[in-house]
Amino acid sequence: NRQITLASRPQGSPHNDNFALNVTAIPEIQDGQVLLRTVYLSLDPYMRGRMSDAESYAEPVALGATMIGGTINRVESSRHAGFSKGDWVLSYVVGWQDYGVSDGTDLVKLDPAQAPVSYALGMLGMPGFTAYMGLKDIGQPKAGETLVVAAATGPVGATVAQIGKLMGCKVVAIAGGEQKCRFALENLGVDACIDHKADDFATQLAQACPDGIDIYFENVGGKVFDAVLPLLNTNARIPVCGTIATYNATGLPAGPDRLGLLMSTILVKRLTVKGFIIFDDYGHRYSEFASDMANWLAEGKMHYKEQVVDGLENAPEAFRGLLEGKNFGKLVIRVGDD
Ligand code: NDP
Repeated sequence: NRQITLASRPQGSPHNDNFALNVTAIPEIQDGQVLLRTVYLSLDPYMRGRMSDAESYAEPVALGATMIGGTINRVESSRHAGFSKGDWVLSYVVGWQDYGVSDGTDLVKLDPAQAPVSYALGMLGMPGFTAYMGLKDIGQPKAGETLVVAAATGPVGATVAQIGKLMGCKVVAIAGGEQKCRFALENLGVDACIDHKADDFATQLAQACPDGIDIYFENVGGKVFDAVLPLLNTNARIPVCGTIATYNATGLPAGPDRLGLLMSTILVKRLTVKGFIIFDDYGHRYSEFASDMANWLAEGKMHYKEQVVDGLENAPEAFRGLLEGKNFGKLVIRVGDD
């Protein structure tokens, strides 16, 4: 059983030596338990927070412990009445390793006939749910409004963009690079996509939003937020989902203090700025999402892009890339065979 553990806490960007690869015996199961074999491991931005021991909404991974994460597993053997060998499940107790043991309470059974099983790590799971609730409940989209979303080709952003279109919004996407922007225009159906690496990014964004911005779905923070702030309309809504541009930061950004400008804009424009932690705040509404998303997928209304990297040993490098925008689509590691 190969497992990737947290060897040390990163300062700034993670390095490969913040992780260690251990090999242990395949665990034994007791009555009431199942042995799970990992097929796919999800890599997500929140894992950077778990590598740190700064105060947060969740406990950090302990030094020497296996990195946590969502996985798609097959039941390898079962001493639990509810599961049989070969069942597909989604688990949050296995993490970055080949095998794990569960008593079944955390497992969600998957039907491979509904959709490829790995979708449960992306659009049909936590990131899709995040996009759905943040946009619908905090964003309150109305037809004709302008919605802006960055990290637009990732699982959260791509879902926000497509639900925004289904709700009749004008959607302006932001992504890193020409290839990602072309993908957003051609496959997600957005009205415009602006490359945040362009020198005149703020000017291009203003030109793409001639009627201002009614909803800014915040995934990144940093200079993207700086460009959005002056374009916000009165009563604009900002679901604060993530600020990935700052996850590796070791201090405040250079330049003038923008806090005064932010607070006065919140006041003058009567902005709604609300953070949320998906399962803590919206876990009770999962079935609403699961039903809508299953229907949209079945009707062909959702386009979904995954990037599959082979090999558990490549997870640290792939994770580092996720924090730098090197992924293109939902990043998953193929840990083992189907
Ligand atoms: P993605 O697959 O979209 O990956 C992250 C993307 O962020 C990168 O591909 C890159 O896209 C972009 N990015 C990285 N660094 C920067 C930067 N410095 N400036 C601008 N963009 C950057 O991730 P997810 O869809 O899984 O997650 C998106 C956001 O949602 C994250 O902030 C995450 O933390 C948050 N989240 C929050 C949850 C909650 O409960 N609140 C739950 C799930 C996710 P590009 O190259 O296009 O810039």
